[in-house]
Amino acid sequence: MRTIILGPPGSGKGTQSRLLERQYGAQHVASGDLLREAVEKETELGRKAKEYMDSGTLVPDDLVLGIVTERLGRVDCTNGFILDGFPRTPAQAQELDSLLAQEGRPLDHALVFEVAEDQIIDRLMGRRTCSNPACGRTYHVKFKPPRVDGVCDSCGSSLVAREDDTPQTIRKRIDVYDEQSGPLVEFYRRAGLVRSIDAGGAPSDVFDRIARVIEADAR
Ligand code: AMP
Repeated sequence: MRTIILGPPGSGKGTQSRLLERQYGAQHVASGDLLREAVEKETELGRKAKEYMDSGTLVPDDLVLGIVTERLGRVDCTNGFILDGFPRTPAQAQELDSLLAQEGRPLDHALVFEVAEDQIIDRLMGRRTCSNPACGRTYHVKFKPPRVDGVCDSCGSSLVAREDDTPQTIRKRIDVYDEQSGPLVEFYRRAGLVRSIDAGGAPSDVFDRIARVIEADAR
């Protein structure tokens, strides 16, 4: 499976990518996770990316492209990948397209997640992630609470809200997505790859919808 997921923040790209990874054995690659790791490690790239991420705007293409293409070149992506949060701009889409064409491993589909804005805000405001990077399990205070408030069920580390999950930054990130997504969806529509997914409701229901699309494509 070689797929990309387009969708606004909070549309469940990460959650569904992890489910797809488990079901289909393709590697989940999230540009946001790669960038957060660089910020955490205080690499030069991380220092440059941080100010954009904190304000909810996009990190410049030249910074993101290197880190993502390097990741896709690693051996764990040879059985396929699920790209989450990348591409976000037409330049990124074009770069990805030529890289994959060169390597003879084109995309199978572009899943486009659609979800109502009030659900997005609810999901993001309650989102919590395990602070242990080796675990990284995600929770939601209302929809998927941990057994003990603020503590990861799996490894016992504390749970944290993402720094950019604040009302002001969420608004900015939704606006940025709305501005950027039109041309991207068009790019993939022209290539015949767009599969629209109703990403509202419970994760298991969304997953069933995606699996139906993937299996129909495989026939
Ligand atoms: P995400 O985890 O996908 O919500 O991304 C968090 C933040 O990382 C975004 O608000 C951007 O600042 C940055 N980011 C992630 N992916 C990209 C990308 N493909 N292009 C530019 N910026 C990105």
